[in-house]
Amino acid sequence: MNHARSSRPNNRTLLPGATIGVLGSGQLGRMFAMAARRMGYLVHTYSPETDTPTGQVADVEVTAPYEDLDAVRDFARRVEVVTFEFENVPAATVEAIAGIVPVRPDGATLYTTQHRLREKTFLARAGIPVTPFRHVRTLAELDDALDALGCPAVLKTAGFGYDGKGQRLIKQRAESAEAFNSLGGQEAVLEAFVDFEREVSVVCARSANGEVAHYGVIENLHERHILDCSIAPARVSAEEAREATQIAGRLLEQLSLVGVLCVEFFLTRDGFGGGKLFVNELAPRPHNSGHYTIDACVTSQFEQQVRAVCGLPLGATEQLRPAAMANLLGDIWQRGEPDWRAACAAPHVKLHLYGKHEARAGRKMGHLTALAPTTDEALRVVRAARESLTRRT
Ligand code: AMP
Repeated sequence: MNHARSSRPNNRTLLPGATIGVLGSGQLGRMFAMAARRMGYLVHTYSPETDTPTGQVADVEVTAPYEDLDAVRDFARRVEVVTFEFENVPAATVEAIAGIVPVRPDGATLYTTQHRLREKTFLARAGIPVTPFRHVRTLAELDDALDALGCPAVLKTAGFGYDGKGQRLIKQRAESAEAFNSLGGQEAVLEAFVDFEREVSVVCARSANGEVAHYGVIENLHERHILDCSIAPARVSAEEAREATQIAGRLLEQLSLVGVLCVEFFLTRDGFGGGKLFVNELAPRPHNSGHYTIDACVTSQFEQQVRAVCGLPLGATEQLRPAAMANLLGDIWQRGEPDWRAACAAPHVKLHLYGKHEARAGRKMGHLTALAPTTDEALRVVRAARESLTRRT
């Protein structure tokens, strides 16, 4: 399956039959690989694990540490472009690949977005509304930051955090030492606590030619800091939707991103600090909140990533029906195998499972998507279908 590449320019279009490399091997890579293979591409995945969600559906699964640069270069030589499905890949790994084939989105975007402090600094410098924050390396800096931002506030590790991991809510100043120690002395960011009305996101994409597209605003409902349900379109005003999608478009341009970007926002009640929308996080890849696009949109976020990284034109993002997505966490396996038949009995509900063998609490094992005439109805249907998985008669 090897293709000769060295004589070809890097910005050419990769047509079906070409091989795409994916760094990471979770569910995002799996759904990307399914979209890519449907379109006739070959997919190689690289991660330290075996029998992975992505590896199960890829053409080739490479198992090696990200730090093994010989293995990384060998992987790069067998593909024609590399993308990633999670951000926590060392910069040296991306650099080693970029010397052989294009990495999309590029290493600079990855470097900015894999670290909260770098990301927030970039956002603030770009004039994008971002939750007030301070850099924290010592307990004294944390106390100063608490003086500046007030309580409550949220202390987050600067790097390698997701789904609320490496986060600590500080309700009173007296908790600062304990909170600082709970992060093991790692470099951190203190953020003002946002009393938000809703959390929303915009999934958008930019092609190699600079064409951009977005899916509108998605509304996200979290439980214990983990995404629980997403509904689309979000229950926001036309003005709020316009502002959120405009910010997403500006970010695509400022990052010169080629691929998919998810921008997560807090939508505040009272216009805290002037505006109503604040960017919480960026993910330079398809996102959990965009999973509904597989069943509800003309082009899924994963096909859009395939198109963008291969240099193809973007597909239409039009949504065919209101939709709601509910995550299936490992917790629902607690009392045995969920009742899949019950969930499939709802004719407008689609089941997605990621092929993970071990159902741990909090682990994303799959999701359900419901399509309905309204988002409220879709949310009701998808929640009922999820409940039916564990209902015992
Ligand atoms: P994150 O990992 O930063 O996306 O945070 C996970 C979740 O924690 C968010 O989706 C929010 O529900 C909550 N959260 C994080 N930061 C804040 C904040 N500054 N104010 C209020 N809630 C927050």
